Amino acid sequence: MKLAAMRNEEIRKLHDNALGQYEDFKALKLKLNMARGKPCAKQLDLALGVLEALRARSEFANSDGDDCRNYGVWNGLPEMRGIFSAMIGVPAEQIILGNNSSLQMMFDCVSKGYTHGYSGYAPWCKQDSVKFLCPAPGYDRHFAVTEYFGIEMIPVPMLKTGPDMDIIERLVQEDETIKGCWCVPKYSNPTGITYSDETVRRFASLHPAAKDFRIMWDNAYCVHDLTDTPDTLLNLYEECLKQGTEDNVLFFASTSKISFPGAGVAALAASKNNIAELKERFNVQTIGPDKLNQLRHILFLHDIDGVRSLMQGHRKILESKFKLVVDVLEKELGDLGIAKWSEPNGGYFVNLDVMNGCAKRVVGLCKEAGVILTDAGATYPYGQDPNDSNIRIAPTFPPEEELAGAMHLLCICVRLAASEKLLS
Ligand code: PLP
Repeated sequence: MKLAAMRNEEIRKLHDNALGQYEDFKALKLKLNMARGKPCAKQLDLALGVLEALRARSEFANSDGDDCRNYGVWNGLPEMRGIFSAMIGVPAEQIILGNNSSLQMMFDCVSKGYTHGYSGYAPWCKQDSVKFLCPAPGYDRHFAVTEYFGIEMIPVPMLKTGPDMDIIERLVQEDETIKGCWCVPKYSNPTGITYSDETVRRFASLHPAAKDFRIMWDNAYCVHDLTDTPDTLLNLYEECLKQGTEDNVLFFASTSKISFPGAGVAALAASKNNIAELKERFNVQTIGPDKLNQLRHILFLHDIDGVRSLMQGHRKILESKFKLVVDVLEKELGDLGIAKWSEPNGGYFVNLDVMNGCAKRVVGLCKEAGVILTDAGATYPYGQDPNDSNIRIAPTFPPEEELAGAMHLLCICVRLAASEKLLS
């Protein structure tokens, strides 16, 4: 029965019951963390071959004959660019490999806009007002980068098909101070949705008032399928070519959640014009990326088929964890009408929306009982969830027994917070 349809004494009973369970949980003095989307140790073990790959080798040249132990090859090894090309759908010649973090490359691209500008326009730091569109809920670290540069963030609601394109189209056409838009187009962090074909086409058809506008297309979860019915994402680069808008987009990806977070390979892809512009910056910034890391990834992964079979290994470990999360939510909250959640086909998160005004309370209650969740509000610009309802669940890291315990506690806290609210 829906909580809102219950009589007061029934809600009181449910509340007292949840409170009792909560106190029992607290007495266990657990310490669990479901805050960040990190792979678990078993997943990391899948990529140990990366560490072995160079050990027995006396030959360190790549296919072009460059000695990977030395400086040079500013844009990275062609074989690794080839792997990224197959992952994100942009030609290998238009890919720049970075070091261990795509987020750092995103930071760098915002930094370039800020200090030097794009397409010959004034640097953003010299323009009176600079804004970014931030589909929300979204990735907290994207918002942190924009906030760091003092760029004003405008939240755009996320729909089942991706960001609300009516709003995006209108805003970019009428406001030339809007310089960018963050996107996680596949298995979006945290909603888990993949942008529809129509959404991708509408992004490709944008004709922003600002000629130095860039879509930040962060394809962090492009090969991270978890079911037999994976989502498919239309290739934005090809759609842009049809419209002549390819200079509007910067594409990002990394092997952080394929091999090792913090020790993988990151990539930035873009139109020929954008790559020429970015080359100037990269050639000043570094004498070359870590090619030994690229080489060992190439030796381990070989090609896109190698990536796909490795991702099957990840799926074997993760599928049951995601199922567990959704099953517990269904079993413990299903009838009550006090929460909605996503059932993603891939990625790293399950998105939970609790009753308005309850997310902070739920996360606080969990913390008091020893389970750390991502801060409520973190998925919104400036940490402000207007409905105080969104909670990001990251099921990958904890072992299954711990995850089951943490999910049980979370559901108790959702019932407790909702009944408190209705009784207040
Ligand atoms: N982009 C998204 C959407 C993420 O969720 C994450 C990590 O959680 C990253 C980027 C970080 O990527 P990297 O490790 O390549 O910096």
